[in-house]
Amino acid sequence: MTPVIRAHGLVKDYGRTRALHGVDLNVQAGEVFGFLGPNGSGKSTTIRLLMDLLRPTAGEVEVLGTAPSAGGPALRARIGYLPGELSFPARMSAGDYLGYLAALRGGRGRRRTGELAERLSLDLSRPLRALSKGNKQKVGLVQAFMHEPELLVLDEPTSGLDPLLQREFLLLVREAGAAGATVFLSSHMLQEVEEVAGRVAIIREGRVVDVDDVRALRARAGQQVLLRFAEPVAPAEFAGLPGVEDAAVDPSDGVTLTCLLRGDPMPLLTAATRHRVVRWQAEDRELEDLFLDFYRGPAAPAPPGRQDGPGPAAGATEREVLR
Ligand code: ADP
Repeated sequence: MTPVIRAHGLVKDYGRTRALHGVDLNVQAGEVFGFLGPNGSGKSTTIRLLMDLLRPTAGEVEVLGTAPSAGGPALRARIGYLPGELSFPARMSAGDYLGYLAALRGGRGRRRTGELAERLSLDLSRPLRALSKGNKQKVGLVQAFMHEPELLVLDEPTSGLDPLLQREFLLLVREAGAAGATVFLSSHMLQEVEEVAGRVAIIREGRVVDVDDVRALRARAGQQVLLRFAEPVAPAEFAGLPGVEDAAVDPSDGVTLTCLLRGDPMPLLTAATRHRVVRWQAEDRELEDLFLDFYRGPAAPAPPGRQDGPGPAAGATEREVLR
């Protein structure tokens, strides 16, 4: 099966700055694929290469089986793109602008504009220049989704959206995925993509350092756990338990245990209930913490999980991560 997005060895230089150092990607039809990385890691650059808004310094890229530079308007019509930085004609209203885009697309999308605007609480009568950042983002989302494209390429789609609208956005992504569309969405937060994405690629400093199933990634990121007991405990009781790392007891009170938990919580819970527990706190760790793990050395990330994408990116190994 031809991948919907295929990038091989993508390099992009901005003058003397190398933004991408050989990015490999393989996204299959029907995947909701997360593209995760901190700010400045090369997400927008990669996406702009996919959309032919930039041309690569070296390497190859194909979108829907076509080189973006050769695809022209026919290829663009099959893609819904939300750019990281939106710019609109200042004088039009949101409704006129979306109507204009629908006309450019041969009328496709006109029918859905109103429904999408309503779901996102976007007032179509307001001039684009008067819209807040969040409302501009809604216009960007409507124009990306309205023509029910085969491929959605969304660059930091939830930036500026309040939590309620983020939920609505996730619903839209799920619906598009259920209808068979392929979705490629970038973010700097694991939390943002984990509800909808299947596989995720992690990009850092212009290199894809890991590709994994989002659940496996979450399990590897783990949770930071704090337990407080009614009586003093020894760190040795917890240090060797499966899934428990960095177990430490606060020396100032002798009763507060902190640790990193990855995987099955039962061994830790069983050990904890030998004492009276007075406080339990567990927080999901974020993408930044995963990156810290990558720097920490061989003891850190567990072996990559399921990697069913056939491409070179899917073969990114822990060794590459740690290089
Ligand atoms: P992200 O989308 O992950 O935040 P970008 O792709 O925007 O990352 O940026 C990747 C790197 O390329 C950064 O170091 C950024 O400063 C640099 N960069 C991006 N756009 C330009 C540009 N137009 N000119 C020069 N450097 C750029």
